[in-house]
Amino acid sequence: MDAMTKLQHRIEGWENRVRDVAVTPRLPREGLRERLAAYDFSAPRDLADLVEGVSDLLERGAVHTNHPRYFGLFNTGVRRAGIVADALVALYNPQVGGWWHSPAACEIEQHTLDHLTKKIGFDAASFATFTTGGSEANLTGVLSALAHAFPRYAKEGLVAAAKEPVFYGSDQAHDSFVKTARITGLGEGAFRRVRSDARQRLDVNDLRAAIRRDKAAGKSPFLAVATVGTTSTGAIDPMGEMAALCREEGLWLHADAAWGGIALLSDALKKHVAGLSLADSVTWDAHKTFPVPMGAGMFFCRTHAPSEALFSVHTAYVQDADPGTYDLYQRSVQWSRRLIGLKVFVTLAELGDRGMADLVDHQSRMADALRQRLRAREFHIENDSPLPIVCFSREGALAADIARKVAAEGDAWLSEVRVDPKRPWLRACITHYDTQLEDVERLIKAVERA
Ligand SMILES: *Cc1c(COP(=O)(O)O)cnc(C)c1O
Repeated sequence: MDAMTKLQHRIEGWENRVRDVAVTPRLPREGLRERLAAYDFSAPRDLADLVEGVSDLLERGAVHTNHPRYFGLFNTGVRRAGIVADALVALYNPQVGGWWHSPAACEIEQHTLDHLTKKIGFDAASFATFTTGGSEANLTGVLSALAHAFPRYAKEGLVAAAKEPVFYGSDQAHDSFVKTARITGLGEGAFRRVRSDARQRLDVNDLRAAIRRDKAAGKSPFLAVATVGTTSTGAIDPMGEMAALCREEGLWLHADAAWGGIALLSDALKKHVAGLSLADSVTWDAHKTFPVPMGAGMFFCRTHAPSEALFSVHTAYVQDADPGTYDLYQRSVQWSRRLIGLKVFVTLAELGDRGMADLVDHQSRMADALRQRLRAREFHIENDSPLPIVCFSREGALAADIARKVAAEGDAWLSEVRVDPKRPWLRACITHYDTQLEDVERLIKAVERA
């Protein structure tokens, strides 16, 4: 069999077998390294054999995000549309950095983003781009807020801000903002953590007090981050109140909906994230909300101005943009850039909006079923999110031990979450479009055994 045929068999075989394989790694580290030692690159190898060897390693040496009993971090199950699309990207390898270089690829991405922009509620004057993930999108949000607040920032750097710039997010906001604070030169201390309430939503009174305190102390608050779907519990910050406060105080509002953006895809859920339309910029990860492989974040901004100010450069070796178009290397952190959006385009085109909504609504129903069954077995549901994420506990049970034991057994995977460090909970998110009731029941059994 040649490599292509083997690849096709691997894809089909995986789809048929995935429910029966362990969710967690079955190869100990020594075994993995021993196997890799056989690849010493001294002599050429047959590509078909490599397909087999590498697939075997990847199948036995991973926590499988693409498993219906992975109740995990926000990594989605992948459908065939996403696999086919990524293979096509590899085949044609379009350079998406320049519109003139890959007009078809750039227009495919823009067409897809235009459709999703409408779901957020931004108008046609807004800017959108695919990113490597939510971290890049959040970084771009903070940079955009800086460029907006301090018009000389792009030229002069942070000294253009006469007063020390500070920004805010809740104690539940994603830690990518810590990295962003460091790498922008703002420094970790510039990222102010505001209290969240008993439902893990940012406390707007605390935010108001922090802004006023910082202003009085001679600092320059420029941005507030609303988390729309926190990573720990799926909490949604009060966007309306935050937007009003940001307008009053002259702050940029960035909404981090890396995972919470999933609600925009469902008629039943979208009301919970309607406030996204009030933000100045939005992070929404395609790879956490569509059934597509990783490497697909999205950044949306109310205007083009910040991205132009931050990222346009003049190069000696690249031709000017065609009239009426712009080149993405002039609008984002990335330079050489792969066609990120094709998997989203193909998935949406294959399923249609309705079909995509059905997948999300199915995930919601599975989360409801999980909540209901947990309650019936005397577990306590700890979070209160409309999204398909369930945090739970049981008197006397140690979350970390349970998560570890469940993983060691390998029939399912879930995580531990420490919102209250003294009282860790278990956390199960429905991330796979094909998680069924039987899978939910097997998770509960695995937890009870543990
Ligand atoms: C996952 C996540 C991020 C980071 O996104 P990546 O795609 O992993 O870079 C940012 N914010 C939130 C709320 C997240 O859940």
